[in-house]
Parts: sequence; C-alpha cells; structure tokens
Amino acid sequence: MKEIIEQLPERARQNQSENKKFFTKLRKKPPKVLDYLMQELHTEEFKKTDCLECANCCKTTGPLFTNSDIERISKHFRLRPQRFIERYLRLDEDNDYVLQELPCAFLGDDHYCSIYEVRPKACREFPHTDRKKFHQISHLTLKNVAVCPAAFNIVEEMKKRLKLR
Ligand code: SF4
Ligand code: SF4
Repeated sequence: MKEIIEQLPERARQNQSENKKFFTKLRKKPPKVLDYLMQELHTEEFKKTDCLECANCCKTTGPLFTNSDIERISKHFRLRPQRFIERYLRLDEDNDYVLQELPCAFLGDDHYCSIYEVRPKACREFPHTDRKKFHQISHLTLKNVAVCPAAFNIVEEMKKRLKLR
C-alpha cells in the first residue's frame, strides 16, 4: 500500500486531462444508471481496499468540521465547543473549520480513528464515491484521486464501464 500511495499523485497527474474530459461529458449527460453504478463500484472497491492499511486521507487532507460535528465531538471530550476549536481547529481560506495539524490528531499509529463513533460527517462520507448524483462533485473527485487509492480505482473503472459520447 505504501508504494501505491507514493505513486498516486503522479498517476493522478498523468490521468488528469483524460479525467477532466470524462467528467465534462458526465456532467453534460449523466447516464440514468449512474447512482446504481456508483454504489456497485464503491462496494466492489472497498471489498479490496482496506482503509486501515492506508489512512492517507487522515494523514494528508483531513475533513471540514461542521457546527454539528464540533458540538458532537466536543461533547464526546466533555469540552466546551470553543475550547475544542482552540485546541484542534483553525479557519481556512473559505472560512471553514479544518484541522490545525496533519496527520489528524485523532489518528492512531495503528490507523484507527480514536473518535470513530463521533467522527466528522466528511470523514464518514469520504471519498464520496457512493453518493447520489456523483457527477455533481467531479471537481472534488479530480482532487481526491490523488489522495485516495480507492477513489482513483473507482474513477478508472467508471471510465471503462461508461462509454460516454
Ligand atoms: S477524525 Fe478520524 S476519520 Fe477523520 S481524519 Fe481524523 S482520524 Fe481520520
Ligand atoms: S478513504 Fe481512501 S484515502 Fe482514506 S483510508 Fe480509505 S482508501 Fe485511504
């Protein structure tokens, strides 16, 4: 897995132009089977890819924290939300709360998340490959394929399975 993760940014860069064209076509005319196909591809991929061997998202990007994430996680730590923010978060250029430091402070050496039950919504949903109307997040997916080996494989499989004009 280490080698796969190391090679991922370069492989994503090589495929970037092809991926951009593919998603432009996908946005123009999303096929009716898209939601169904994404569920299938996502399930197939995550049978093969074990996030505990990877954790690259937790190490290199981290999630956005919504207000309800902050409330839930602060409660878990019995901290006031403001105290939690001061300890772990910062505002990014879009005025969203993100982690102060990477890798994520809640990631263990064994790649387990110490706040798994209350983790941010964005962590639960990453890499968003099973969401409905997947074509609507193509800008995000173009970035995620450089971080997430599963997202990379899913997009490659999409290109094989969907012959778009
Ligand atoms: S909160 Fe948990 S799942 Fe989310 S980035 Fe941190 S370690 Fe990963
Ligand atoms: S979601 Fe993707 S980047 Fe994150 S741990 Fe799983 S395979 Fe790795």
